[in-house]
Amino acid sequence: MSNNAVKKSNIFYHEICGAIHLHTRFSDGGASIPELIDAGTEVGLDYCIVTDHQSLEARERGYEGFHGNLLLLVGYEHQDSRDRNHYLVLGTGKLASETHDVQGYISEIKRAGGTGFIAHPAEKRHYFSALPSYPWTDWSVEGFDGIEIWNQMSDWVEHLTNWRSFIRIFFPRRLMADVPSELTAKWDELNRSRFVAGIGGVDAHTRRYGFGLIHITVFPVKVELKGIRTHCYLERPLSGMNADSAGRVIIDALRKGHSFVSNYRRGDARGSSFFVQYSDGSRCPPGMQPAKRAYPELLEVAVPESAEIVVVRNGGIFKRIHGRAECIPVDGKGLYRIEVRRKNHAWIYVNPFPLGDYPLS
Ligand SMILES: [Zn+2]
Ligand SMILES: [Zn+2]
Repeated sequence: MSNNAVKKSNIFYHEICGAIHLHTRFSDGGASIPELIDAGTEVGLDYCIVTDHQSLEARERGYEGFHGNLLLLVGYEHQDSRDRNHYLVLGTGKLASETHDVQGYISEIKRAGGTGFIAHPAEKRHYFSALPSYPWTDWSVEGFDGIEIWNQMSDWVEHLTNWRSFIRIFFPRRLMADVPSELTAKWDELNRSRFVAGIGGVDAHTRRYGFGLIHITVFPVKVELKGIRTHCYLERPLSGMNADSAGRVIIDALRKGHSFVSNYRRGDARGSSFFVQYSDGSRCPPGMQPAKRAYPELLEVAVPESAEIVVVRNGGIFKRIHGRAECIPVDGKGLYRIEVRRKNHAWIYVNPFPLGDYPLS
């Protein structure tokens, strides 16, 4: 288990790294749960979250829990009765009603103590008719906890724009680029009035495709788990917790946005620090406000490799620097967030730092 402890006054934050939004043979995925556990362990993940379509079978069969150092959590992907408005549901033991009423299932899941993230909210697909798009269509809803800001499968398919790009099937991660700017703008807009967390999703299906006599698996499971990852900052390490507590702590960190999303293809982001330093000496991870009244002073950014670090404030670029570590003075109230780029591609998206009371801009 990675154990990158980050000091916050007298509290150490423990960073864990995992993969969210994984489909298995319990719905339309190609991998079995044991294959997923083996691959997740081999690539050094701390947690994996299975979200099969309308199915909690992996949980019912007893797979949820620690498998060595890997914690496997089982949520599911809910959709409305027309197969639209996909919603990743964590922390409930049963499926919500199948209905066309999107607000109805969001509220039902919340009442059941669940946490929900809008899946692939701005998905567009141009070329591959076998894989239609499933964007979120109803933005009038309230009560969702967050959105999937980076979806590996959507990103990949969106770049299959002509027959030449099909060569990329043999190098699937090479196609992945950035979160579309209209989605980061939507995320900023949603965060003006309340905190809306972002997560990264793999949307792993491990599908096999046939091309004449050749059958290949696009994104074998180990490759899928070396792409989009969500890193959480926890106040206690997972070791020593039972599976129920560990699951609750991870879901809590995801809902509150004490996390950042990375693409492993651009570099291993483990060990990164993203904190706000306050006037009383405390340091808060993304999504957290200090316990007592204190003024935010510095944004503290450190990444393992030299990169372009972009600080966004209220939707506009506030600061752009190159390097590995920097303390950046903040400029009063606002919604701050950080994007990190390497080799002309997005590497990391950090959850927002809400500095001040809402509304923030
Ligand atoms: Zn979906
Ligand atoms: Zn999915």
